[in-house]
Amino acid sequence: MMLNEFVGNDTVKYELSKAMASEAFPHALIIEGAKGTGKKTLAGIIASYCVCLSDEDKPCGRCAGCVKALHKCHPDIFVIDGTQPGALSIENVRKIRSDAFIMPNEAPKKAYLILDCDKMLAPAQNALLKILEEPPLNVVFVLTVSSANILLQTVRSRSRIYTLYPPDKEEAAAYLEKRYPEINPGELNNHAALCGGNIGAAITGIEGGGEEAAALAEEMLHAVVKRRSYDLLLLTTRLSSSREFAAKSIDMLLGLSGEAIRASAGLDVTSEAAKAASEKLTLERLYKLADNIEKAREVLKSNVNLNFFGTWLCAQLLG
Ligand SMILES: [Zn+2]
Repeated sequence: MMLNEFVGNDTVKYELSKAMASEAFPHALIIEGAKGTGKKTLAGIIASYCVCLSDEDKPCGRCAGCVKALHKCHPDIFVIDGTQPGALSIENVRKIRSDAFIMPNEAPKKAYLILDCDKMLAPAQNALLKILEEPPLNVVFVLTVSSANILLQTVRSRSRIYTLYPPDKEEAAAYLEKRYPEINPGELNNHAALCGGNIGAAITGIEGGGEEAAALAEEMLHAVVKRRSYDLLLLTTRLSSSREFAAKSIDMLLGLSGEAIRASAGLDVTSEAAKAASEKLTLERLYKLADNIEKAREVLKSNVNLNFFGTWLCAQLLG
């Protein structure tokens, strides 16, 4: 994927494209933003930029470097998944540090993507800081985190910080128009508005008549905000009708929670349920909610019993 294919976030794209065209690309970048805003995707684009062999318009998306990056098999791109046990340990950071001094195998630059740094402890961050202070040539570190404030000030001050937001509904609609040229723009606009710019949820809506799922998601969010556990249980029980319906509803709910986070950040949103949630719940609670919905999405992909899933989800959403 190339930078201009990334949906929304025009300011970030503008700043990054300027940096990519200059000789002085930062050696450390922090990408912050809520779940589902595309932090990992953007980190991947930056990695492609690092290994792109083209002379201009990096990442070109066509050269051998970009193709390997796309297939996740480039020897100069290292991905550290912070959600894996031990990935963010001080030992691992030290390993990365010594490895970073080895010249790239074949690319102009090496890229280290350290994803989901939310749980990186201070000693490991300090170990990382050493290399950020005196970075080897031709190495780029990209850290993703829900909020840069979680990281040490010293790490932040050595990095360029980019903040991502879910795209607004116009941007989402524009993206959908490109993806579905056969569908009339008015209808696509409705889908974009309904999902508050969450592309994944909008696609679900378009590809499978998601009105019922959207309505259920709104009702679930409402019950969460009001902390009506019995109502919520009745609603989550409805998910047991089919796995597909449950998945759709969860996607919609995730879209709504992202929308509520945008509303909390003072951005314009269309969903009334999301607005109400942003007024009643703290930002921290909204992040937790989005986290739990994301978790539910994963659980649903496993072969979980649907009757059990509804009850479990109810507890998760109120937790
Ligand atoms: Zn390329």
